Amino acid sequence: MPEETRVDVLIVGAGPAGVMCANALAAAGIRVKIMDQRPSRVVSGHADGIQSRTIEVLQSYSFAERLFKEGHQMHMFAFYNPDSDGVLVRTGRSPAINAPTARYPFWILLHQGGIESIFTDSMAGHGLTIDRPVAPALIELSNDSEQLADMFSYPVKVRTSPGVGAVER
Ligand SMILES: Cc1cc2nc3c(=O)[nH]c(=O)nc-3n(C[C@H](O)[C@H](O)[C@H](O)COP(=O)(O)OP(=O)(O)OC[C@H]3O[C@@H](n4cnc5c(N)ncnc54)[C@H](O)[C@@H]3O)c2cc1C
Repeated sequence: MPEETRVDVLIVGAGPAGVMCANALAAAGIRVKIMDQRPSRVVSGHADGIQSRTIEVLQSYSFAERLFKEGHQMHMFAFYNPDSDGVLVRTGRSPAINAPTARYPFWILLHQGGIESIFTDSMAGHGLTIDRPVAPALIELSNDSEQLADMFSYPVKVRTSPGVGAVER
């Protein structure tokens, strides 16, 4: 008999959006399950530029200190292009400020896996871990009107299967 668990929110996908949502719900005491078809977190790159307003959002979750410690501050963008001889030259510079009134006048660079870890470590404090590699295989919604009207029932069933085991490149 497959294991059955009851949760109030199922989050499919443990990228930045999924782990942020899972962490906020778990912190609010809501029963959450989060799964991802990947066997592990993203190992490099992807969503790695945290803008100044996002730093403030992460600060509201008490994550700013860790973000500052693990990430790199970026105060200036530099743009490079080939000149008429095909030599790469700097063609422009611009301050990394997209919100002049923001508290932190810079971006923080941290690879997506690092950002996900900040959330997953916090989630672990609420007893929540990511099921990997797991993906939904079948979603069933009850047709029973009484069950659908009962806010304490669980009218949605999700069967899962091992995820695709995608390897991060
Ligand atoms: C090569 C590359 C470079 C990038 N560079 C940058 C950058 O420099 N700066 C930047 O800000 N952004 C960058 N991005 C964009 C950034 O990665 C995304 O904006 C960000 O990851 C979106 O977060 P998300 O949580 O919405 O989705 P994702 O990070 O895509 O997470 C979705 C998760 O859902 C899982 N999933 C999907 N379908 C299923 C399923 N059926 N069952 C189970 N799990 C599932 C996936 O495995 C994945 O882990 C880059 C993206 C790529 C691909």
